[in-house]
Amino acid sequence: MSAPYEVLLYYKYAHLDDPDGFAADHRRLCRELGLRGRILIAAEGINGTVSGTRENCAKYREVLDNDPLTAGIAWKIDSGTGHVFPKLSIKVRDEVVTLELGDEDFNPADLTATHLKPSEWREAMKEDNVVLLDARNDYEWEIGRFEGAILPEVPSFKDLPKWIRDHRAELEGKKILTYCTGGIRCEKFSGFLLNEGFDNVFQLDGGIVTYGKDEEVRGEGYEGECYVFDERLSVPVNRTEGAKIVSKCRRCGVPSIRYRNCAWMPCNAQVLLCEECESATGRYCEPRCREVDLMSRAAVIGI
Ligand SMILES: [Zn+2]
Ligand SMILES: [Zn+2]
Repeated sequence: MSAPYEVLLYYKYAHLDDPDGFAADHRRLCRELGLRGRILIAAEGINGTVSGTRENCAKYREVLDNDPLTAGIAWKIDSGTGHVFPKLSIKVRDEVVTLELGDEDFNPADLTATHLKPSEWREAMKEDNVVLLDARNDYEWEIGRFEGAILPEVPSFKDLPKWIRDHRAELEGKKILTYCTGGIRCEKFSGFLLNEGFDNVFQLDGGIVTYGKDEEVRGEGYEGECYVFDERLSVPVNRTEGAKIVSKCRRCGVPSIRYRNCAWMPCNAQVLLCEECESATGRYCEPRCREVDLMSRAAVIGI
């Protein structure tokens, strides 16, 4: 039996001369098909993740595959039992991923590093003089990453260029293998590394998600799960026997990949919290948030 819904993750760097017009047409299309999710459109291309019925997701893929502007997308498709997004959001931005290079900006349709297929990547990981470089944010690699990868402590993608310039020595003269969730950030980031003078740069084709789905490598060499930007929060990657959990509950330290948002609304911080700790002390990042929240609730009902 096949699942009635799909979750699509995709991107395409292209040259869209009229991003606003493209976005208006695209919004009409998505509404017609009842899709939900987040789509960014810019002159440099399109980046989206949507959920919908299997039938309508197939129609959506067909439309984009037949449009010369977006043809050639490597779709990442998960099956599901319902929507994983609360609504549809389509925005026009300056970039489809925010790196904010300003005058040094470029389109990855014109400049990006060599792609490695999952099997090529697995072999390259074992070579000498190689560094694996995680191109994601700190809260993403905290719950999963390739074994031995360099994990830049950056809260957002646009902080990576500065991090690279501050850590050149760790990368100089090395073969750099960089990766991200679905590949879109690396298209840009690897081009940035080339522009910075690193010449031995490679990127994982289709990102961690594709690596985890590949029947040959079965996620080998990846530890933990892969953070995703929808209600699922993470998806499994490593299907070999070596799979393990690398992150811990912030309260008690047991292995956990369970991200929750602090229940005190003004905080709302995303923290790793195991099920037992949540039921024992509430869904709070710190005892302080619990105190403040309980006090403010008491004030509202006048006790
Ligand atoms: Zn715990
Ligand atoms: Zn909090």
